[in-house]
Amino acid sequence: MHHPAKPRLLWPWRVAFQWLCSASLLIVPFVRIEGASLLRLDFAALTVHAGGRVFPLESLWLFLLAGLALVMLFLLVTMAFGRAWCGWGCPQTTLVDLVEWSARRLGIKVAAGRLTATVPQGLLLHVVCLGIGLLVGINLAWYFVPPHDFFPHLAAGTLHWAAWVFIAAASAAVYLDLAFLRRLVCREFCPYGRFQTVLVDAGTLTLSFHPDEAARCIRCGACVRACPTGIDIRRGDQIECINCGRCLDACRKVMAGRGQPGIIRYTFGLEGRGGRALLNPRTALVTVALLAIVAVLATATVQRAPLTLKAARSATLLPRIVEGGGVVNFFTVYLHNRSDREQTVRFAIGGGLPDVQWRGPAERQQLGAGEHRRIDFGLVTAAGNLGKPQPVELAVLDDNGGVLATTTLTLVPPLDTAGGH
Ligand code: SF4
Ligand code: SF4
Repeated sequence: MHHPAKPRLLWPWRVAFQWLCSASLLIVPFVRIEGASLLRLDFAALTVHAGGRVFPLESLWLFLLAGLALVMLFLLVTMAFGRAWCGWGCPQTTLVDLVEWSARRLGIKVAAGRLTATVPQGLLLHVVCLGIGLLVGINLAWYFVPPHDFFPHLAAGTLHWAAWVFIAAASAAVYLDLAFLRRLVCREFCPYGRFQTVLVDAGTLTLSFHPDEAARCIRCGACVRACPTGIDIRRGDQIECINCGRCLDACRKVMAGRGQPGIIRYTFGLEGRGGRALLNPRTALVTVALLAIVAVLATATVQRAPLTLKAARSATLLPRIVEGGGVVNFFTVYLHNRSDREQTVRFAIGGGLPDVQWRGPAERQQLGAGEHRRIDFGLVTAAGNLGKPQPVELAVLDDNGGVLATTTLTLVPPLDTAGGH
């Protein structure tokens, strides 16, 4: 038998991972890539910043796809690791852990997720919960008003009232949660916990207390006291278990004192079939679906044109002969600058027909970020060139001459209303 002198405990890993997740949430709003946020919803401009790129809210299908990918990822993680996200990554757990840690520092007794405090201790803990609530409320507001705007507005007293309302509501919700609900949220309210019961299968990671080992249990109760959700893992897998591994640590410590390994273990599936148990049709199907969605999303994002062009023949102005004998055809184009920066673009006319002249507003246009612009113009052919309908190519070029978008327009002789683009 293996006799560990000092038990290998999981809590340092869990705490490190929890804080990595929570610190990321705190830091993400500060990260900007070429002026765009890493993740932010800009209500004023009706855009979403994601990964340093800016997408208009009307790109709804991209967001639906991203949402679907996230759902698939959660399905997969839950199938493989059960509620490990709850115990190891979820900010709710991290904040409650922080409150319990603070409670212990204040001399409050914490056991199985329950706190026993005197009135002054309880009041002090409420102050701690309020402080954490406020910090979280402000942090969440940064996902709408980025810190580089938030702080100057705060200092100048010009922060929008909606931001104050949001911070007050979010802070109050977090305060009430931490002060009064804590683990009850994970146990009773969190939809993810409920959802998980239908996702676990024979290969899911779970904490197990194998019946074969039960004889070694000295019934010390350390695992039950350590459990934040107040369950007894010796009774088998339960929905309230957040896979945090505290019972495992507690048991390892107790059993190390007796020169024995712990009785509680992480196993894939209740029968402990090992990681291979994850290779089943269900997880394979979800993995393939997830990879397919991510591939479509990545392709759509990379190939997303920074500018769109739509063109139509003028509904009111008919082709006619102009001074000098040429023919003018009238069109309307709609440009949409889908990028987050100003773009200077110009029109170029190509195709088989020589000497087609642009008539209308400047051929060079400056479009603000996200701007839509309608441009009415005419194309004039040289005298005698237009005996029959002729196609021309209208291209929109960027400053360096790169083609951003093209469309084909048809120039027709007067009195001939056939054709179009
Ligand atoms: S049973 Fe163990 S792993 Fe599950 S919540 Fe309780 S302490 Fe955490
Ligand atoms: S900590 Fe280990 S030995 Fe103690 S009651 Fe729990 S399972 Fe049994």
